[in-house]
Amino acid sequence: MDKKQLEKDFAEFTKDQDVKDWVQFLDNTGYRYSPYNTMLILMQNRGRSDKERAKFKCVCHSYGAWKKQGNQVMSKADMERIYGYSCNGYAIYVPISCKKEVEKTDGETETRYFTRFKIGYTFDVSQTLGYADYLDKEKEINEAVYERAMPFEAGKEILDKVEGIKVEYGDDEKAYYDRSKDLIHIGSGQKRNGGTVLHEIGHYLTKEIGKEENYAVNEILAELCNVHLHRVFGYKFNYNYSKIWASRTDLKMDFDKFAKLYRATEKTVDEFVESQKLKQAA
Ligand SMILES: [Zn+2]
Repeated sequence: MDKKQLEKDFAEFTKDQDVKDWVQFLDNTGYRYSPYNTMLILMQNRGRSDKERAKFKCVCHSYGAWKKQGNQVMSKADMERIYGYSCNGYAIYVPISCKKEVEKTDGETETRYFTRFKIGYTFDVSQTLGYADYLDKEKEINEAVYERAMPFEAGKEILDKVEGIKVEYGDDEKAYYDRSKDLIHIGSGQKRNGGTVLHEIGHYLTKEIGKEENYAVNEILAELCNVHLHRVFGYKFNYNYSKIWASRTDLKMDFDKFAKLYRATEKTVDEFVESQKLKQAA
């Protein structure tokens, strides 16, 4: 796979897309690739045959990682025999750290470290010998995941431990974060759950990142925090909500910006959880 071609295809692929096309990658239950790599996988899948696309689950791991899980990526011959066709893995960017000696003006040399990206390959579960087994268990897996949705009380427990924020509970339907007062308001409406609370915490956490951004961008930031907080605390996020929300926004953003915001929110959440020792406390 040629790197230049991959980049060109990617720019073309994401050009007419929107945030709602990108939140789907959050559903990926395989290795948690970066937004960029996940979109690369989805892009390549779009160009594959109907048969292959019908089997695809976007549950991807490297050859070695599948092996560690007791599964095996199919050989071309296996695939021909079982499916009647064969296909390649999906190209992704793999970071490699490099160093080089640089000569300084005073004649001394200095070691500089930098990251380069090389092309590696990842494989969907449909490209492994364990696919039939996966399909058997899929319903069970999805149901187990559903049961891990965060209840309201768990969200509240986390919120009560957040320092530096005022919390107000009301008997209305609203939930919001008031930036000027650093205040989170949570109403007792029927539809609230742990995610409602974490979304508002997300607004609080991203107030700096989102300072110069508009309303729609701030909603994305809060929602990305919500997703990551669920993950950190071991709950399954209900992506359907994000998808509905994202399909309502007509926000135009380029993919690089989205990926950058995504990374920034993850970092913010991780630092926050670490600094507050929230993980152990919860
Ligand atoms: Zn919001």
